[in-house]
Amino acid sequence: MTKAEILGKARQEKRTLLTEIESKELLKAAKIPVVETKLATSKTEAIELAKTMGFPVVMKIVSPDVVHKSDAGGVKLNILNATQVGKAYSDILASVKKHYPKAKIVGVTVQKMAKQGIEVIIGMTKDAQFGPVIMFGLGGILVEVLKDVSFRIVPMTKRDAGEMITEIKGFPILKGYRGQDPADVPYLEELIVKVSDFVDKNPEIKELDLNPVFAYKSGALAVDARIILEPAS
Ligand code: ADP
Ligand code: MG
Repeated sequence: MTKAEILGKARQEKRTLLTEIESKELLKAAKIPVVETKLATSKTEAIELAKTMGFPVVMKIVSPDVVHKSDAGGVKLNILNATQVGKAYSDILASVKKHYPKAKIVGVTVQKMAKQGIEVIIGMTKDAQFGPVIMFGLGGILVEVLKDVSFRIVPMTKRDAGEMITEIKGFPILKGYRGQDPADVPYLEELIVKVSDFVDKNPEIKELDLNPVFAYKSGALAVDARIILEPAS
């Protein structure tokens, strides 16, 4: 679907939360690297997609009513074969229906299982005074508990992005910690600028979350994405 179709559909359905797959389509069109993600609306279709994509795969719930997919049992990682795809499909639907009996279910995504990298988060929120602000931090407990994040106002230069990466306390982790691979910092700088340009060009976006992005020795890849639109005026 094109950007106009995705936004049009959301407006028509009176929702501001784009699904993960819609969010990833918009990001991909803006050349922001996202993991290959396809929508299945039946078990058979999920199995076909997984076979075409190649195992291992990840499967996740697609519902405009489920914001935190893992909390609802809506994410299954490292699925190895067709039998496991079938089981994951049923398990995801059962679990989400238990957590949110009224949730509208669109289907289930089938995604490539990405190789583990250092988990980072790139986000955007709008400040009443400054407008769009980009946030960067390390994923998991470092963001949730320690609030180790940095902020910059949009639009951003590569130099701004470099500063925001080095100023988080967890920066040594990105430099390679105890024999772990370092992250490709120049690539992350470019990625942050791309996200900044993307939100700058799309003022109808109210909030954006790439959580997590896997940062590799070479390159990086967003494995989850969430976009919230401004309310229709
Ligand atoms: P939630 O809606 O709960 O944030 P996510 O899509 O972020 O769900 O998935 C939860 C976790 O599963 C992620 O933080 C990441 O560690 C892992 N994950 C998600 N998608 C993939 C993927 N395609 N490949 C590898 N790991 C993934
Ligand atoms: Mg996530």
